[in-house]
Amino acid sequence: MQRPIYLDCHATTPVDERVLEAMLPYFRESFGNPASVGHLYGWEAESAVKLAREAIALAINATPEEIVFTSGATEANNLALKGVAEAYHQKGRHIITVQTEHSAVLDPCAYLESLGFEITYLPVQSDGLIDIQKLEQTIRPDTILVSVMAANNEIGVLQPIAAIGQICHDHQVLFHTDAAQAIGKVPIDVMTMQIDLMSLTAHKIYGAKGIGALYVRRRQPRVTPAPQLHGGGHERGMRSGTLYTPQIVGFAKALEIAIASQIEEQQKTLALRQYLWERLSNLDRIILNGNSTQRLAGNLNVSFVDISGQALMLALQPIVAVSSGSACSSAKTAPSHVLKALGHSDELAYASIRFGIGRFNTLDEIEIVANHVITSVRSLTHQK
Ligand SMILES: *Cc1c(COP(=O)(O)O)cnc(C)c1O
Repeated sequence: MQRPIYLDCHATTPVDERVLEAMLPYFRESFGNPASVGHLYGWEAESAVKLAREAIALAINATPEEIVFTSGATEANNLALKGVAEAYHQKGRHIITVQTEHSAVLDPCAYLESLGFEITYLPVQSDGLIDIQKLEQTIRPDTILVSVMAANNEIGVLQPIAAIGQICHDHQVLFHTDAAQAIGKVPIDVMTMQIDLMSLTAHKIYGAKGIGALYVRRRQPRVTPAPQLHGGGHERGMRSGTLYTPQIVGFAKALEIAIASQIEEQQKTLALRQYLWERLSNLDRIILNGNSTQRLAGNLNVSFVDISGQALMLALQPIVAVSSGSACSSAKTAPSHVLKALGHSDELAYASIRFGIGRFNTLDEIEIVANHVITSVRSLTHQK
């Protein structure tokens, strides 16, 4: 049986062969612990981690000391939010974030609320972008942190990160951004964008799962989140735990490839997305979710009016792997909070599909998917 065409690149991506090749030696002969200072095995691993850290820092215009390796963006977000809250609570207990953030930002915020912090959840406009004037008006003397994602994982919209960085800098409030979806796909520079903390992950850019980083600014200002994992004092005390050399080496390789091929790859992906939209927009009563231009090249998110989301997903499953507008946690399904924030009803949110196009997709695949979606939607419409 033919496997479905993979168009779920916001959920995860396959490991690029070049990344896998770079990782393999560190599973095999060079398996040492980077913290073992007394022998060759440790030195090899330590030197590989050092080179990877330098490459990742260079890719975002940071210094190597500002990179704290974590298990991914979820942990990086937790360290940023809970770590800053714990370290800066004497300055204030107010944090600003956005209604459309990933649950790895919203859930730590809810936890902080339970500890007595006050969180403002900014709404978004109908195109998914925040109003930066509203953001500025929301900053108070006791605001310690603003957390706004760079690119949304559902609707792909790119928030105005440089403008937000400027506002936070003017008001001397720390700025954290979850860049899990943006890194490698759009240019990110922590200096010009005035970012103080930034969450990264490898598995959305063809690296392995289970590795990411938090960028933590060291100068102007020096940011010192309280550690959330205590142990051997790795990563300058901010995140203990033996460094996972193969994943780290692969992360750096993945980021290097993504940045070296960024312009070309994003143009190719954009052309595929535009073609898919050109085809699908011939359907009646289809809605494009998120700003049409300020978005990731590979993201297309659409809602189908008066169609059962569940029936549509069932029809699509054998041919194409995509995500729907329901956020499935292990216990229950709920309509996507991102689509709800755009003003959609529960029913319309459920009847939404996220297409995540990536490096390995082809025009032939998009053609098959477009034809199948159109046929499925038409037959489901007639059933009603
Ligand atoms: C995938 C994702 C995360 C979670 O990253 P992990 O590395 O899987 O923990 C967080 N935020 C956004 C925006 C994401 O897309």
